[in-house]
Amino acid sequence: MVDLKSQYQKIKDQVDEAIMNVIDSTAFIKGPEVKEFQVALESYLDVKHVIPCGNGTDALQIALMALDLKPGDEVITADFTFAATVEVIGLLNLVPVFVDVDRDTFNIDVDELNKAITPKTKAIIPVHLFGQCSNMERIMEIAKKHNLFVIEDTAQAIGSTYTFSNGERKKAGTIGNVGTTSFFPSKNLGCYGDGGALFTNDSALAERLNAIVNHGMYKRYYHDEIGVNSRLDSIQAAVLRVKLPNLDAYNQARRDVANYYNNAFLAVDELETPVISEDSTHVFHQYTLKTNGINRDDLIAFLKNKGIPAMVYYPVPLHHQKAYIRPEFKDENYPITLELCKSVISLPIHTEMEKDQLEYIIESIKEFFI
Ligand SMILES: *Cc1c(COP(=O)(O)O)cnc(C)c1O
Repeated sequence: MVDLKSQYQKIKDQVDEAIMNVIDSTAFIKGPEVKEFQVALESYLDVKHVIPCGNGTDALQIALMALDLKPGDEVITADFTFAATVEVIGLLNLVPVFVDVDRDTFNIDVDELNKAITPKTKAIIPVHLFGQCSNMERIMEIAKKHNLFVIEDTAQAIGSTYTFSNGERKKAGTIGNVGTTSFFPSKNLGCYGDGGALFTNDSALAERLNAIVNHGMYKRYYHDEIGVNSRLDSIQAAVLRVKLPNLDAYNQARRDVANYYNNAFLAVDELETPVISEDSTHVFHQYTLKTNGINRDDLIAFLKNKGIPAMVYYPVPLHHQKAYIRPEFKDENYPITLELCKSVISLPIHTEMEKDQLEYIIESIKEFFI
């Protein structure tokens, strides 16, 4: 699905040098590379504070820990996403409330979100799925009206830009109270291990997040609250510092692949190509098609036979996951998620795809439909 090796080869000299410098300096934890990357990312995102941490799941947990929520408070998120988002809600004894998604963008349906709000609702976690932003203008309006926190899960959409109706443009993750992301190797900005970060424009919140990632420590060895130990190590930061200047080019390469696929699949009635929302750029963390009128498993098996990986993100709605099932979650409230789980298929997409690889995948898929 991704080709991290070819990408590495193009930046090998810079990456190797950066990693060797960290090893030479032995500043493995909290070295200067971490600060340098943090500042570079703040500037790229045009956000006041970036707080690096250990991974994208920790980032979500730390964001929730900083909001003074009480056990039993409700946090709304999408039914169609990766489980990390909901896992941390549960871990903190908060109550996850799932909402169906939009048929076209796969992101949280804002009308359904509005309906799901109760007096116990305290926060919303929109997930910018597959690479484009949720409807942040409406989400921020709803949040303001009901006094809710907004945590943007930007693990799949770093570098994507949202445009408000007044023309104002902001990077994904810098619109809500906090944004979180993951630097898992296969993400759009991936390191060579685990990594994550939080973003915020709220300086008081940033101070709190910085303390929580470091054992709740505001002053050395003074622990004012319970925190965690979640760090981006210097070697990962060094890799990310080298890769960040390429992020826009990487995202463009992904868009080019998506366009190539889109043109090829126009002629295939059984495949619906991704819909790009009007208010967000798409950074194509995944290239996800909707299939109709075919047996998806047959297509996946056919492609596998030809050496082409294809994945289903995600086969099971969160409201069906054993860990999160509650009697309140009724199938009739999640028609789109249920349909998507049955019909979507994601094709290989990465920054180093060659034209002949793309042609081979496209020809193979067309062959299936003959
Ligand atoms: C990858 C991902 C995460 C988790 O990131 P990790 O760094 O693997 O912990 C969270 N949310 C979404 C939507 C993701 O895709």
